[in-house]
Amino acid sequence: MPDVADAPLPPLTQLSEDEQLLRQSVRDFALAEVRPLVREMDEHAKMSPALIEKLFGLGIMGVEIPEKFGGGGGTFFHSVLVVEELSRVDPSVGVLVDVQNTLVINAILRWGNEDHKSQLLPRLAAKSIGAYGLSEAGSGSDAFALQTRAVERDDEFVINGRKLWITNANEADIFLVFANINPDAGYRGITAFVVERGTPGFTIGKKEDKLGIRASSTCELIFEDCRVPKTAVLGAVGKGYKVAIETLNEGRIGIGAQMLGLAQGALDQAISYTKERKQFGKAISEFQGVQFQLARMAVDVEASRLLVYNAARLRDAGKPFLHEAAMCKIFASEVAERNASQAINLFGGNGFVKEYPVEKLYRDAKIGQIYEGTSNLQLQTIAKQLLGS
Ligand SMILES: Cc1cc2nc3c(=O)[nH]c(=O)nc-3n(C[C@H](O)[C@H](O)[C@H](O)COP(=O)(O)OP(=O)(O)OC[C@H]3O[C@@H](n4cnc5c(N)ncnc54)[C@H](O)[C@@H]3O)c2cc1C
Repeated sequence: MPDVADAPLPPLTQLSEDEQLLRQSVRDFALAEVRPLVREMDEHAKMSPALIEKLFGLGIMGVEIPEKFGGGGGTFFHSVLVVEELSRVDPSVGVLVDVQNTLVINAILRWGNEDHKSQLLPRLAAKSIGAYGLSEAGSGSDAFALQTRAVERDDEFVINGRKLWITNANEADIFLVFANINPDAGYRGITAFVVERGTPGFTIGKKEDKLGIRASSTCELIFEDCRVPKTAVLGAVGKGYKVAIETLNEGRIGIGAQMLGLAQGALDQAISYTKERKQFGKAISEFQGVQFQLARMAVDVEASRLLVYNAARLRDAGKPFLHEAAMCKIFASEVAERNASQAINLFGGNGFVKEYPVEKLYRDAKIGQIYEGTSNLQLQTIAKQLLGS
């Protein structure tokens, strides 16, 4: 029997006062500042620079950065709420903020030394965007087969190679780049480096023309004899695989949040449209068939939210969360695709055209099953734990 003095645990979706305030302020911001730009940014495949400034102004580009470095001093769960609310309106803006917080800042907080923290965190909180460069043309799911090399020379490392698919690359100033310094040692040669935009030998290559999240930039990174000081190593030499695994394990909860927000956004749109649209002399939301479809969408959103919040709260509590993170990502991304598809159906012909917002959500949903570990890789993680292998 539990001790009667034990306080009951709060329900998973109950938010503290500061969590509620943050969620409301991001929700208001997304409606006022993001929504008017969504279509244009998607069409031009470009994130608005003015919007990026406002994201910094709102203080959500450094959610977990300690206050002494100019950040919000928040939790991982706060980042998840921010990504969810932004993605409800635009998943492209959601992922920009997600990569900044749950990958780049997360890695620096965890693995950076005092110099990294004091030099990088104030910039990331105030004005600099971060990007996370792991994937390459030949190494996606098998990320540790990366071919980018770093060679030690005097008091520097010289990096050569190419990264592909790097989110935020167009806007970023600070790049976390993974290179192997000792290929004979396999993944134990992988090392994480902080590389600044403008470093000689480092250029941003081709920008991808994508199906969805079009306003989020995705580019190639090219390193040709790019020399970085030894102080650019984040964490220990040869321990980059740990930096990568551990940040991605957490980062995928952020993708779960992005997909949760998208699924909620599709439901929001479906509710308001079906209340307006009239057929057979009444609003289509009055047909029970439509009501059941909306209800099913809501059940899926709630289940996704429970999975995402549970994984994030476990992470903040310092408890194991690996398979919960994999579950929340695969489930929320499948729900996002399903809900966006259902929203299109409920919009009828209007669902199929760009004048209405739901076809974009459908395109945006697809990425959730691909990046930060494809759905098959999430299933592999879950199955390994089930089978103890
Ligand atoms: C828009 C976008 C943004 C991205 N942003 C970033 C970023 O910021 N930083 C970064 O480093 N990377 C980024 N990526 C890369 C992304 O993480 C990879 O695309 C992803 O990990 C999949 O790798 P791949 O594309 O090489 O596919 P592959 O690994 O070639 O996979 C192809 C198919 O094979 C399946 N498969 C592969 N191996 C197995 C296996 N062992 N068992 C079962 N099935 C398997 C996969 O599930 C998938 O269905 C981004 C990608 C995109 C498209």
